[in-house]
Amino acid sequence: MMWSEERIKAYLMDNINEKRVKHILGVVEMSEKLAEFYGESPFKARMAAYIHDVAKYMPYDDIKRIIKEKGYKLTSEDLIMPELLHGLAGAIIGKDMMGIEDESILNAARYHTTGRVNMTMLEKIVFLADYIEPGRNFPGVEELREMAFLNLDKGVLLAFGGIATRVFGKQ
Ligand code: FE
Ligand code: FE
Repeated sequence: MMWSEERIKAYLMDNINEKRVKHILGVVEMSEKLAEFYGESPFKARMAAYIHDVAKYMPYDDIKRIIKEKGYKLTSEDLIMPELLHGLAGAIIGKDMMGIEDESILNAARYHTTGRVNMTMLEKIVFLADYIEPGRNFPGVEELREMAFLNLDKGVLLAFGGIATRVFGKQ
């Protein structure tokens, strides 16, 4: 049985620190808005957003164990940036514990950390909502919010650009 949204929210509030819960609920709100705007399912967008950071503060050893138990092979890239694995761990928790079976929802949670080629609209929505949820406050966030509702692909590319700058510095 898939958990209700109320049950998922209660789980988040019991298990995750308040600041992160606030972020997650901001991503839920923004994902829903984008889904409505672009004709994607608001329900799927909310569900993916609820679980996207559920493993964010899990100890790295637990994350690795969960992923290995499911038979996923960790690549050398995963080991360079283990921070990125919380998306996959969140998708696994969403499926195994919360009973979410829909692969499109699980993938939107899984790929919110890295993106991937040929992202679905739902994946783009959750990826971008993570950056522009109401609690985010960084130089350029307003432009990114505007772009998100003008051109989803451009918004995603702008967000990627921002990430690259933070990781590699200005080129
Ligand atoms: Fe995250
Ligand atoms: Fe997040």
